[in-house]
Amino acid sequence: MHEILRTLPAGALILDLGCALGSFAETATLAAVVRMDREAPRDLADFGRFAQADAARLPFRDRTFDAVIANHSLEHFDNLGCVLREIRRVTHPNGALFVAVPDATTLTDRLYRWLARGGGHVNSFTSAWKTASAIEEATGFRHVATKVLCSSLSFLNRGNSLRLLPRRLLLFGGGYEWSLFFYAWLFRRLDRYLNTRMSVYGWAFYFGRIQGPIDTETWVNVCIRCGSASPASLLIRRELVRRTLVGVHIFRCPDCGADNPFADDVWAADWLRREMMRRTSGDPTLPRN
Ligand SMILES: [Zn+2]
Repeated sequence: MHEILRTLPAGALILDLGCALGSFAETATLAAVVRMDREAPRDLADFGRFAQADAARLPFRDRTFDAVIANHSLEHFDNLGCVLREIRRVTHPNGALFVAVPDATTLTDRLYRWLARGGGHVNSFTSAWKTASAIEEATGFRHVATKVLCSSLSFLNRGNSLRLLPRRLLLFGGGYEWSLFFYAWLFRRLDRYLNTRMSVYGWAFYFGRIQGPIDTETWVNVCIRCGSASPASLLIRRELVRRTLVGVHIFRCPDCGADNPFADDVWAADWLRREMMRRTSGDPTLPRN
């Protein structure tokens, strides 16, 4: 989403739709930001501009916003068709839209729904191409790019998962970081050598008019504690990768400092093509080049 945030000028207006505590820091953009969710945060005084509202009936005039960010929120909206029409109404026709959603066919999203008894995910997206096309049609904004998102199962981390059921969580190492480290390491190897999609979580879609290039590389290195993703090249350049005595490569998360298994992401270069190809074959394990 940062491609949109960093190119909007001062004076522009962004809607952070269904954002809970906020999808991004206000310092990420020069534009003004309006946060919106159905439930208000506890301390509104620290929250800047906030609107408590139903996303299917946005309390804004037509063409109010220059960009809308829907970061992992569309899966939660009961009346998705109305929400998409509202996005179209409140966004300027030359504006931009960012959407990130989970792929309901992945292990990560299935696990999340099972552990969190649905976790509020009322909409299921099962194809990158179909999802992008449906959003394009409903909002009128042209689809311009897709990015494959990976998971580290950070939602299982005991420090982040207060609402999960402890007994079910025991099946996955109790949410301790050593177990998440192991799963992240294992999933990257299965994906690399057996062509599976164990690390995939979902997709990010870009629509509308966006200034500058959009980075569509797949970043497989995702932190098991804070969930932030980093390109392998950046981690190497910043000297955050080290080799342990047993030969396992580890990276230190640039955002929170947690140790994570490191994986080169060159082998994931064709993941985006595979994800978009699923529209024609319906086969999630298309052969590599
Ligand atoms: Zn982190």
